Amino acid sequence: MADDDIVLDARSLRKSFGAHAVLKDISLRVERGELVSIIGPSGCGKSTFLRCLNLLEVPDGGVIRIEDVRVERQSGRGWTRADERQAHQLRAHVGMVFQSFNLFPQYTVLENVMLAPRCVRRRPTGETEAVARELLYKVGLVQAMDRYPQTLSGGQQQRAAIARALAMKPAVMLYDEPTSALDPELAEEVLQVMRALDNEGMTQIVVTHDMRFARAASDRVLYVEGGEIVEEGVPDTMFAAPHDARTRRFLRTLL
Ligand code: ADP
Ligand code: MG
Repeated sequence: MADDDIVLDARSLRKSFGAHAVLKDISLRVERGELVSIIGPSGCGKSTFLRCLNLLEVPDGGVIRIEDVRVERQSGRGWTRADERQAHQLRAHVGMVFQSFNLFPQYTVLENVMLAPRCVRRRPTGETEAVARELLYKVGLVQAMDRYPQTLSGGQQQRAAIARALAMKPAVMLYDEPTSALDPELAEEVLQVMRALDNEGMTQIVVTHDMRFARAASDRVLYVEGGEIVEEGVPDTMFAAPHDARTRRFLRTLL
């Protein structure tokens, strides 16, 4: 496969907190347009993995390439200003969505979506507003665009957070348990948006406890335990006939 069909290529990522090796040797290549779900028990390193992909957490070792930006870490080497510049460029290709929405409470929904393109990318207001309105239409929030985040449902807030991330035109979207704080109906609104983005060809990596979504919507599922990818595969195989005993045990605990 041509290299530009691989949006994200992470090799041998390692991360410890003190003596605790949280990521042992994780590698992941994601094709353009893929929707990859990451599942696994709590504390196994899923959030740390996502945060390392975005360099919100600096891995101890490994290589991350997203589009044309490559960052290599070697143990024992410090984090230099040049590394930080590379990290900044890498993050520009990534949209991140958290469980807790993290909208700016003092700004309206529209302002939340316009803020980064205007302040970081220095795009003119007219252009950022047009893009923001289009994105809010896409996530079903045009009616709510002048409201403040705390007046919205959790599902609406999360859809606004997705629109805000999309406003920076990321090559890949990372979601860390985007529906875990939501009631099922509100979660469904968010999952619908993610399915629509998938249909448009967006590349997405989702840490989720929603096994129904992981099974129905993903191209590929990764099962992580103890800081390693224990098993990966197409959803039907992973859920109906997992190969590894650890995956089977985890899936049994969900029944
Ligand atoms: P998951 O998202 O799969 O529940 P996390 O990646 O949040 O797991 O955490 C994996 C492990 O790393 C946990 O044992 C957690 O306590 C530890 N951990 C995560 N972040 C930090 C940190 N900043 N400092 C120390 N330990 C951390
Ligand atoms: Mg987590």
